[in-house]
This record gives sequence, structure tokens and C-alpha cells, in this order.
Amino acid sequence: MTSPAPVVLVFLDPAFPEGRPADASQPQLLVTDLGVTRGDGVFETMLAVGGTVRKMQAHLDRLAGSAAALDLDIPDQDAWRRAISAAVARHRSQNPPADPAADELVVKLVVTRGVEGAPFPTAWVQATPAGAAGRRQRETGIDVILLERGYDSDVAERAPWLLLGAKTLSYAVNMAALRYAHKQGADDVIFLSTDGRVLEGPTSTVLLAHVEKSDDGTPVKRLITPQLDSGILAGTSQGALFAAAKAAGWELGYGPLEPQDLMDADAVWLISSVRLLAPVNRIDGKEIGTPSLQKELTAELSGLFAGTR
Ligand code: PLP
Repeated sequence: MTSPAPVVLVFLDPAFPEGRPADASQPQLLVTDLGVTRGDGVFETMLAVGGTVRKMQAHLDRLAGSAAALDLDIPDQDAWRRAISAAVARHRSQNPPADPAADELVVKLVVTRGVEGAPFPTAWVQATPAGAAGRRQRETGIDVILLERGYDSDVAERAPWLLLGAKTLSYAVNMAALRYAHKQGADDVIFLSTDGRVLEGPTSTVLLAHVEKSDDGTPVKRLITPQLDSGILAGTSQGALFAAAKAAGWELGYGPLEPQDLMDADAVWLISSVRLLAPVNRIDGKEIGTPSLQKELTAELSGLFAGTR
């Protein structure tokens, strides 16, 4: 039997400015916590490589934005930074990384509305080793299916109470979509809106690339993602990669995208903070892209993304 992955927990607690370490094998939450009873809270998932968290500021800013969408007062960014440092350092001292090539930790920030009636939120940082499956999929690529998300691409603006751009704890639908895909023999999902637009993956952002020759024969590379105002989560990975790709001479574009745009692309990826850039091999069973170009572009974009902070 394999032993469970070591989990390190550090709670944000005003009485412990550097964070309050807690035993992850013991109960730590009250059953009346609104995060448990209503999924009322927000979270972030970050990657630490060699002990350094990537894109920390972008994640802290998105956490603040998600919390604001829920009218939730959360600890300030310095308190988060101290608890994150404590959790990463603790994990590395308790579980020294054996393989430098796999020295990756998933660092999750969670904050709930707290116990019913209490004036404070419940907030913690959790550090665990990154799984091998995600690292493998960066290399092998993934098969995805297109699934309905059940809303149109304008609803985010019309109905802000749906919290579509916020990273709330209510991820049961996203996880159900992934299980549905696994039952169909696929690895992942791309959601579509009721008006036929490409949205996002349950835990990732959709990217596609086109390479064309310009009049003087030099290749023009274009990286495209769905419109950010179509009810999707603004990905910190997409944001960082777009900045790096622009600096490297790529043209950038933002939807609207339809399924045919995915089928016509030279390459499609799902990008996220922990799995990073996962090339899409098949959509609904159909091979997409140009395999040699996909490989070349994946290597180039992965290199650019690795250079972001
Ligand atoms: N879209 C959704 C719904 C997500 O849950 C995530 C991340 O978990 C992403 C996109 C990608 O975001 P990021 O690149 O910040 O990890």
C-alpha cells in the first residue's frame, strides 16, 4: 500500500502572526463552518517549484478579487505570504525532496465565511506534493470532450450573483464534469456556453495557436484564448504566458471562439498553475492540430512559461 501524500497545514490566525501550524491528520474545522455547509468561500491553487511559489502576486490578487465578489473580508496579503512561507518551509523540512526534477508542491489557499455567527473567516494554507499524473500529461498530452456548461456567454455580466469570474469553493460541478469525461475514456473537458462559445476547462484555461507565413516568408505565430468576459475564470497562467509570448514576438488574440476554431487550430492546450501546459491531442475523439508543429510550439511555449515568475 502506498502511504498517503504528506499534507502540511498552516492556519491564518490573528494570535499567530507567522501562521498557526496544524496537524492535517486531526479534525480542524467545525461542522458549522459555512465553507463546509454551503461551499461559501474562495480558494487558490498555486505551484511551488524548488520551494518558490510561482505567480504568487497574481494568485493573491485573484483571491482578493474572488473574496470581493462574495463580500467576504479576508486576511491581508502579508498574512497570506507569511503563512505560505511557513507551509512551504515546513513541508520541505519534514519531507526533503528526493528528486530535484519532481520538487513541486501544490500550495492551496482556502478561506471560508467561517463558523455561523462568528465575525472571522476561516483561512488556511495547505501544502502537498504535486502528483505525477499532471507532470505526465504535460508530456503525453490529453484527450478532451466538449460539454455544455448550461449558461450563455453574456450571463456573467447580467447576473453577477452567479459569481462566474470568482474562484469559489463550489467546484462540485467542475469535478462532476471531470468524472463524466473519465467515464467516457477522456482526460479532461472543455465547456461550451449555450450560445456555442468555447469557455474553459473545469480547472484550466483554453489556448490555441495558429502559425501562418507572412508576405516575406517569416512565420507569424498567434496565441488565442476565449474572451475573459464570457463567464470564465481569468487564468493566472494564461496571463503570465500571454505576457511572455508577446515579449517573444507572438501575436495575441481573445475569442469569441467556437468548437470549429479548436478543430482548425495548429495546436490546442489546457493551461493551469499545477499541470502547466497540457497539449490537447483529441477533441471528441477527433485528432486535432499538426503533431510536429504541436510538439514544437509546446516546447517553445513551455520554455516561455517556465521563465515567468
Ligand atoms: N479556469 C478554472 C475554472 C480553473 O479552476 C482554473 C484553475 O484551477 C483555471 C481556469 C486556470 O487558472 P490558473 O492558470 O490561475 O491556475
